[in-house]
Amino acid sequence: MKILITGGAGFIGSHLAEKLLDLGHEVFAIDNLWTGKLDNIKAIQNHERFHLVVDTILNESVMNELIFKVDHVYHLAAAVGVRNIMDHPVETLETNVKGTEVVLRLANRFKKKVFIASTSEIYGRHLDHTLAEDDNRVMGSVKKRRWAYACSKTLDEFLALAYHDEKKLPVVIGRLFNTVGPRQTGQYGMVLPNFVQSALLGKPITVYGDGTQSRSFTHVHDVIGAMIRLMDEPKAVGDVFNIGNDREVSINELAEKVKEMTGSSSEIEHIPYEKAYGPGFEDMERRCPNIDKIRNLIGFEPKYNLESIIQSVIDYFKS
Ligand code: UDP
Repeated sequence: MKILITGGAGFIGSHLAEKLLDLGHEVFAIDNLWTGKLDNIKAIQNHERFHLVVDTILNESVMNELIFKVDHVYHLAAAVGVRNIMDHPVETLETNVKGTEVVLRLANRFKKKVFIASTSEIYGRHLDHTLAEDDNRVMGSVKKRRWAYACSKTLDEFLALAYHDEKKLPVVIGRLFNTVGPRQTGQYGMVLPNFVQSALLGKPITVYGDGTQSRSFTHVHDVIGAMIRLMDEPKAVGDVFNIGNDREVSINELAEKVKEMTGSSSEIEHIPYEKAYGPGFEDMERRCPNIDKIRNLIGFEPKYNLESIIQSVIDYFKS
């Protein structure tokens, strides 16, 4: 099959490209290298079935040509990373809203199946339970810039479902929970690469807020496996699935584990959110998926536990 990955030189996109090449597909990747990197694809850049286009997904003539020639589209290109979103709110909104609009409109022109990479961020500020696909969304104020990202991705989901319901476009939506693993950079905020790099360098491990907030981390290989299997499953079309790991960990506990597993002498420091992200930031206290739906449909079970996830990130930064 011929497959287009938008954001194909990104952290998740590059792992997906490798896997699809292994499975025998021909892979086209488009990436504007905003957060994607050529380094991510250095193992595949000369592969005869891999083709990279360095351009923006907002370039409609390029996208038209690419989508015309492929069978499936995995739409991963987006503004990512809390720091990026806080620093570049205009680019975040434009990339996420206009970019997805271009992908869906052109995919619909040629009726090509599309995977939309959405995010657990869209659930917002829930505290008391694990998050299931049909839950309400609890968004913060528009004065809190962080929620712009969640709202832009929510609009992407609405648009994808609208194309499916109204125009019969085959779409599958995956809501990714904190995806981590080799090649993820700490540059845009992400906690695990930051903790591991600090620990390995003997620098303070910096926890934002009081560290009681929790997350559920999923290894990128588990995530891309789920994406591919969802795209192969006809019953997934027109629907939304959590893709995540239901093991929850507080950020304090994560810092301790990283310190212990790296044998680091780094101090664990707590700093206020305003110091980390500036004013107008609001964190999510908790974010843990209910994965019954994807488990029941495709038998999804994350293979990496928290310790092996952390170890893979340590090994990556050590090498
Ligand atoms: N965080 C932290 N130190 C860091 C980076 C992040 O304590 O160096 C915290 C952050 O405030 C959040 C959690 O770790 O509570 C996860 O942050 P990340 O940016 O990785 O993902 P998201 O907030 O999107 O879940």
